[in-house]
Amino acid sequence: MSIQQLELKYMEKVNICLREFQKKAMETFFSEVFSKVKPKPLLVRLPTGYGKTVIGEAPLVYQAINDDWSISRGLTYVLPTRALTHDVADRLFGDLCRFGITDIKELHGESDATDFYADISVATFDTFLYAFARRTHDYHLERPAGVIATSYVVFDEAHMLQDEYLYSHNIMSKVLSSLNEAGVPTIIMTATMPKIIENVIFEKTGEPLRVPDDLNEFKENISSYRGLIEKVEFKQGVKLLDYLKSPDFRSELREKKRILIIANTVQRAIEAFKIVEAMMEKSWKVILLHSRLRLDERKKRENLVRKLLRAKIKCDKCRKEDLTLPVYVDADDKVVCNECKSVNASEVSKIVLIATQVIEAGLNVSCELLVSEVAPADSLVQRAGRCARSVEEKGGYCIIVEPVSSEPYPPNLIKNTSEMLNKLSDNEKLYALTSLMKSYEFINESYKEFDPKEMIWEDLRVTLRYLEGIYPFIIDRTAISSVRARPNATVYLFAPISDERIKVYKMRLEGIDEKKRYKKEECFETTLEKLVEYVKKLKDNKEALFLEEETVKRGIFTMEKVYLTKKEQPDRSLLFDDDKIIKLSYVRTSLLDTGSEKSVRYYKVELLPIKGEESREGTRIRKIIEEGTYIINPRFYDVKYGFLR
Ligand SMILES: [Zn+2]
Repeated sequence: MSIQQLELKYMEKVNICLREFQKKAMETFFSEVFSKVKPKPLLVRLPTGYGKTVIGEAPLVYQAINDDWSISRGLTYVLPTRALTHDVADRLFGDLCRFGITDIKELHGESDATDFYADISVATFDTFLYAFARRTHDYHLERPAGVIATSYVVFDEAHMLQDEYLYSHNIMSKVLSSLNEAGVPTIIMTATMPKIIENVIFEKTGEPLRVPDDLNEFKENISSYRGLIEKVEFKQGVKLLDYLKSPDFRSELREKKRILIIANTVQRAIEAFKIVEAMMEKSWKVILLHSRLRLDERKKRENLVRKLLRAKIKCDKCRKEDLTLPVYVDADDKVVCNECKSVNASEVSKIVLIATQVIEAGLNVSCELLVSEVAPADSLVQRAGRCARSVEEKGGYCIIVEPVSSEPYPPNLIKNTSEMLNKLSDNEKLYALTSLMKSYEFINESYKEFDPKEMIWEDLRVTLRYLEGIYPFIIDRTAISSVRARPNATVYLFAPISDERIKVYKMRLEGIDEKKRYKKEECFETTLEKLVEYVKKLKDNKEALFLEEETVKRGIFTMEKVYLTKKEQPDRSLLFDDDKIIKLSYVRTSLLDTGSEKSVRYYKVELLPIKGEESREGTRIRKIIEEGTYIINPRFYDVKYGFLR
């Protein structure tokens, strides 16, 4: 079958017309996989909004149409963050179900699925790596790895794995070379990956195939896949918070209806939010979004932003799709039109979103005015991708201001980017942020002195050596526990709100040895402060308190461990009674006597002293914060602003 036939099928089933470089990518991939035992990796660099997901799914579609499964058994789709897995899984399902492929799984730290056995597995990079490296908590050690080895693997939004050591890219380089050795076809997709990172990733496999082969070749009209940004302005020396207080911004605020403000740190995002909130009128929606919000709150805000911050808004009731502001928000955050609104609905005439770089992670929104702090060039291009994003939009306006400090980015990246923005004319700035070729130059220039932090780190060495030696059925059990996907381990933080009622189960351990089971004694609701008191009052170590997975899941977010410890001591936000931390430990279902409700998972509440326990050898120092889920002291979490330290 030819690409033309694939094109016809896409037209017929999904009603989309394949673009020039989608077809080129498919052609390149097919000719390589059908002619080689060890196909080269394919690097697809195309602008945001061009439709890269379609390229990733096409080989599976091709096989389904022809009922020819010679490329691979299935698709493993790898993404840098959990937030993206759900969006992408939805999009893939939407297309692929029309071709009869419906077996799709999402895999990440909080999902129940652990093996990759599905037609399509959409996984985070971490979960993928642990499965690949056979570091799973499952009994089926080889199964996830085996399933990956018989699929083709897509790494999408690969630029987002960034860390200042290039740790994850070193890991990815090894993974790519192992996959390549095993003959597993791979596609790496990005809009903004700097050359220096490409070099690291393909160090072991050699030069990849590229689409477009030469970026100068890419001549597609920008307005065919995105709206138009009219003006980019760099306000040298002006800081974000000062700009937001200026008459200039006030007049923009009066005029524009959809505004996106991006700060580089959570702290500044909160400050910016306070400034805008003080100017707010009754019918405005001003929303704060960052990574240190409870999952339920973050999802709620993301959901509203997704619906409101766009050129054409859809009515949740009558399904009309071409609404513009003002619209109405009904109970349960339903967005409705003037005809569908109930008496209690509130009018929204303007939306202002104040966010951190979380917005770069695939949140599909579009603003008229973007105000951003200087960030590394690749981040800036991603941010500009959220301005006038939809094809029908015109007149997008980007204002770039200077950050107070380079944090959290390496200083010379911010310095280089500022200097370049200063040098470029207004028109050149516009191209640097929107044209594929010019943005690549802009990004590489900004990274030209980038010097990854030296990492003389045992974990990286062990992980790399381990990955190098992966063969089926041979496992180095000591090395496996040190395998890490990222330089800094992340922990889950559960953020209770101070008066929130939490459902608690009291259970008692009965039986001995392998017959040991926790049996439910009672269930009650209480606040976190009281819960701590209950834990202290437990009679013996056979009694324990548990929280349901549902309770834990909605109240968590993740944070890197390094931010939560200082000299092996936990941050004060994790302390209760000044010297105790609370860990939520997942308990294997086989240890629970919960009757028929098999699928519910429970977390045991453990109050742990940080001083270390007395033992015969003297005081033993505990590794204070390890992987896992910890509870934040409610004093440090604010419903509106999120985690405050
Ligand atoms: Zn309606």
